[in-house]
Amino acid sequence: MNERHAGAPGLVKEVTSLANPLVKDIKALAQKKFRDQQNAFMAEGLKLVIDALDLGWQIRTLVFAKAGRGNAAVEKVAARTVAAGGTVLEVSEKVLVAITRRDNPQMVVGVFSQKFLALKDIRADNGDVWVALDRVRDPGNLGTVIRTIDAVGAKGVILVGDTTDPFSVETVRATMGSIFAVPVARATTEAFLAWRGGFSGLVAGTHLKGAVDYRSVDFSRGPVLLMMGNEQQGLPESLAASCDRLLRIPQAGRADSLNLAVATGVMLFEIRRGALKLEPIVDQQ
Ligand code: SAM
Repeated sequence: MNERHAGAPGLVKEVTSLANPLVKDIKALAQKKFRDQQNAFMAEGLKLVIDALDLGWQIRTLVFAKAGRGNAAVEKVAARTVAAGGTVLEVSEKVLVAITRRDNPQMVVGVFSQKFLALKDIRADNGDVWVALDRVRDPGNLGTVIRTIDAVGAKGVILVGDTTDPFSVETVRATMGSIFAVPVARATTEAFLAWRGGFSGLVAGTHLKGAVDYRSVDFSRGPVLLMMGNEQQGLPESLAASCDRLLRIPQAGRADSLNLAVATGVMLFEIRRGALKLEPIVDQQ
């Protein structure tokens, strides 16, 4: 392993060997066990890493491809990493492919400390929308929900029960960077129900047997907590019973339900309809 001074005010370690211990540690982040042990996760792409730093996430290691040497934006991120006490690695294509498990990897990868919001620190004011996901299993669904929460201007997500890992590579990819913008809390069902008891706004559950059409509800008063059920089983009785309303999205056709992330998107845009001052799209043609 060579070391050199970068244009950035710090040292860059040049790594070409897959046996390098730093590389091994990053590769291990593909497994939840090691993510938990290291309390870390990986995010790919220069823009994502810049956004994460801007939002105050703690970077541990910046990895970039040799091709990034001399690139002003990469050098700047490298300097910020060193200033934050992180390590910078310049690696060969082979190492980047191994770390990302992709044939055409991004030029930049960042390793960050994980961050969860504690339930007790959630403040829900008028106009705020939070989403609770019951035992979400699919990383693509979770990532898409987090991205949608970001896009619609909702406040954050609470993962209830045994869920997929929000910091897995698949989930982080599916968030398209929103993992850094959306606070994530997690709780057992019991802890969530205790916290829900102190939630002063409307708790709106979604259920295939919901008695209320989701379009008939006034979401404009106070904060809203939207509760979504597990992909296979829907909301269990204990969570359904804790909702003020159980809402249904009417469907046509033969599908028995909507995909979880799609249903969450439909609900969130309805809840935020009044609040979103969207500019009308003008057809240019
Ligand atoms: N077989 C499951 C069931 O019986 O509930 C289907 C679950 S569905 C794939 C996942 C979640 O998306 C549901 O628990 C609910 O929160 C929401 N969902 C999907 N389609 C919905 C609809 N038409 N109305 C209300 N919620 C819906």
